Amino acid sequence: MKIKHIDHIGIAVKSIEEAGRFFTDVLGLRLEKVETVAEQKVNTGFFPITDSELELLESTDPDGPVAKFIDARGEGVQHIAFRVEDIDDALRELKEKGVRLIDQEPRKGAGGARIAFIHPKETHGVLVELCEK
Ligand code: ZN
Repeated sequence: MKIKHIDHIGIAVKSIEEAGRFFTDVLGLRLEKVETVAEQKVNTGFFPITDSELELLESTDPDGPVAKFIDARGEGVQHIAFRVEDIDDALRELKEKGVRLIDQEPRKGAGGARIAFIHPKETHGVLVELCEK
């Protein structure tokens, strides 16, 4: 598997509009786009930083995974996404190595990316997303 770079860091927030003000007004980043990923019950707001982005995640549903994350741990870093060259190849390799996955097959993420999550039990508590764009 070839990891190219850190694609984005996902941060769970209660409100993209409210939290985004810090990243725009204080840190001088730019909110590029807000997109809803209905399947994940989440709105995503992307703030590009050169080759990477911050992804603010706001739940659209009190039962969604991001809402549950905030209920359990409060706002904060929820996942780290590595950009891979070929996600099918990466998943095949991880399965061969017996790594526990949340997604056995890639699914559709924000921006038309193909994504898959590795189980945090394998990654020392960090939810890792692989993404191919
Ligand atoms: Zn992500």
